[in-house]
Amino acid sequence: MKKIVKYSSIVILLIVLIIIIICFPQLYYFDNKLTYKNFNVYSDKPITPKIYLILDKVDILIKKSEIYDSTLQFKIFIRSDYSVHNALPWQFSNSAYAITRPIIRNIFISKGNLQSNVAYKISGGSRPLDEIIAHETVHVLIENKFKNDRAKFPEDWTKTGFLWKEEGYADYIARGSTLDINKVLSILQNKTDIKLSTYELEYFKYWFAVNYLFEKKKIKIKELMQSQISLDNILNDAMHEMNTHGTKSHPPK
Ligand SMILES: [Zn+2]
Repeated sequence: MKKIVKYSSIVILLIVLIIIIICFPQLYYFDNKLTYKNFNVYSDKPITPKIYLILDKVDILIKKSEIYDSTLQFKIFIRSDYSVHNALPWQFSNSAYAITRPIIRNIFISKGNLQSNVAYKISGGSRPLDEIIAHETVHVLIENKFKNDRAKFPEDWTKTGFLWKEEGYADYIARGSTLDINKVLSILQNKTDIKLSTYELEYFKYWFAVNYLFEKKKIKIKELMQSQISLDNILNDAMHEMNTHGTKSHPPK
């Protein structure tokens, strides 16, 4: 009996330790910390002064959002190597540039270089780190404001498993798609054989639809999150509009 109690205590202690590290990875993994404005940055590499420029840019971008909340603090974990700091679940993504874990709201950048302002993903490809941080921060803003309206309707999920409104809005705030708009439109309309990765094409669609809804239809974030909207219908409308009026008035941000 004593043995059972002893082993149970060890297991419970281990579970508690794991939960603590999942919620507060900084206690175990990250030696370098910087607090600036509303951002708490943790890194496995020394944090260079370039971080101030990066965070200033993120700050400007996310303040454009109607749901910006100056009382929120953002926790950003930046790793320099894919192979480290991922022993436990609910931390870094194995495929994306970054991921924001709901509820505990930890933002994990899969691989980032502060000095060059670049974020990488394991399958290849890179994007500006400030845009990736801004994108992830918008997920926190959405959770903060629309906790009960995330995935409110079945149409909010795409067949590929993404919440298109949320991803599209995050890219809309974080400077838009990096893809050439005319090239992607030709792909969507089957006018070319060029192929993009599913991930890139999907995210372009979400950004394109949300950009159209905000810039052309002038909707507000509340309408986006709380209305039943078909992504396919919006894409058709947006493409029709683009074909009629051209792309000049819709430069990617
Ligand atoms: Zn996202």
